[in-house]
Amino acid sequence: MATLEKQKKWMFRGEGNCSLVLANCEEKSVYRFPKKNHWGKEKSPDAQSKAERIHMELQSVVDYMTNIMQPLLGSNYVVLPVLVAIPDGLSEEAEREVINSRPAHRKGKEVQSYTVEPVSKSALILPDLSYVIGYEVSPTTGATISVEIKPKKAFMHSSESFIQTKNLERFQVCKFCMHQRLKAKEGQWPKTSRYCPLDLFSGDIERMRHSLLALADTPQNNFRICLNGEEVHGAWRKQDFNIVLETLFGPGTNGHNNGNSRPKNLQLLDLIIEALLSVPHGSESNDGRSDVPLVEFPAQYCQNSSYVQQQQKHQLHGQNGKKFTLVKGCVLERVLSVQRMDDLDIHGVFPIYQKLEEHLQHHSEESSSWCLDGPYEYESWLGPCEKCGVQTCSSNCSLEKQDPIAEAVNKVKRFLISKTMQDCSIMVALQRVSEKTSGKYSYLTDPQGRLYQFSVSIIDLDPKPFNKILTYYRQDARISKAYKEAEDKMQ
Ligand code: ATP
Ligand code: MG
Ligand code: ZN
Ligand code: MG
Repeated sequence: MATLEKQKKWMFRGEGNCSLVLANCEEKSVYRFPKKNHWGKEKSPDAQSKAERIHMELQSVVDYMTNIMQPLLGSNYVVLPVLVAIPDGLSEEAEREVINSRPAHRKGKEVQSYTVEPVSKSALILPDLSYVIGYEVSPTTGATISVEIKPKKAFMHSSESFIQTKNLERFQVCKFCMHQRLKAKEGQWPKTSRYCPLDLFSGDIERMRHSLLALADTPQNNFRICLNGEEVHGAWRKQDFNIVLETLFGPGTNGHNNGNSRPKNLQLLDLIIEALLSVPHGSESNDGRSDVPLVEFPAQYCQNSSYVQQQQKHQLHGQNGKKFTLVKGCVLERVLSVQRMDDLDIHGVFPIYQKLEEHLQHHSEESSSWCLDGPYEYESWLGPCEKCGVQTCSSNCSLEKQDPIAEAVNKVKRFLISKTMQDCSIMVALQRVSEKTSGKYSYLTDPQGRLYQFSVSIIDLDPKPFNKILTYYRQDARISKAYKEAEDKMQ
């Protein structure tokens, strides 16, 4: 009798605070299961009603992605999940199979955080985005490298008072960099991140490369590289990176290719930058809908950025006067444009939230009609304003007499949409191919003329609940406090 080892059916792909994501190797798809610690807090009575609540919540994720995120970001970047009912025992079986492949730090004391909610009878199915999608038959079976970036908030709210007339572009520290002080204080990560989102979204290749190197150096939970779906470089697992690079580029010594003096890690970063700046082939960036205008934003610099500091040290900053913007329709431009839908920041939105919350307490009959926690329909979230005809969420109503509650709802929705975009991840998958299969696809070509098929997707597009604004407000206060303390210490 043949004793072939049974091919594994399930593989670990990743996890966040609320989901455990496992690949089903037979179906070539991933299952996004709701995690127990996310749902365990709920004072839900019996298993069945809890399962129903989870199912409804997952349905609202699908609705939000279909009706709000996809129109805003474009169908090239947003792959819609399918909500499925799962048979009894499936999640337990899947989890059992991956238990040994989970990163070591995830086991032991944290084991609880891995468990799929046992009463859940539902999951979301997505294509496995650690592989390239969107091409027909691939002419290769070679290895696939995928890079996941959780970019976080990539702009600063420009307050007039911050702007110094002579030095328009440099005036404050971005939220991500400020948050690092709180993380250091709380001992969340062994090393402070050297990444600054403003550099990644600058459109300036040199700055972008600097930010990717910083991510690779201090990945925290903002950066991960997988080889055929398995993590090889990330917060906790650092393998010999040369193996990955050799898999993609072929063998060579000292990280260099024969005849090419550019280190292979930089060659990989160049490909990632090219993918991040590419505009999908033959597509309109936002499906022809004008939900979010494609606008050019002024270049911003964060005072805390190691790039900016390095430039200052060498007195290079601002000397060349170069201005960069992101290519319209590339993934970074889409993410930034949607993040920019919030022009108030938490300080501006919190008083509005408080008034609205109070109003809704006295008019509970209105609560559901404003749809702040769903249903997530295009009309109520992005459709034209009944009074002025302007898109409700993508621009402010131009009529002075707009209903103040409608205006408050509109501002809160824009804030919540922006918050989703500040938590999403960008997945880039790359695979070397020997030839183009069709002119209708885009390929990346490196300076050596090697060809890669690739795909770029945006994941983790969950809606943010209305009452989370209070949590954001409190967190912001903690960030500001920790930042001030750290600054005071340095004086
Ligand atoms: P967060 O705590 O960031 O909100 P989450 O709990 O909402 O996370 P996701 O970010 O959606 O969960 O998924 C967790 C991880 O699983 C991702 O960071 C990614 O590494 C992996 N993942 C998610 N979807 C896919 C996919 N379609 N293909 C491959 N890997 C995926
Ligand atoms: Mg996530
Ligand atoms: Zn910064
Ligand atoms: Mg999430």
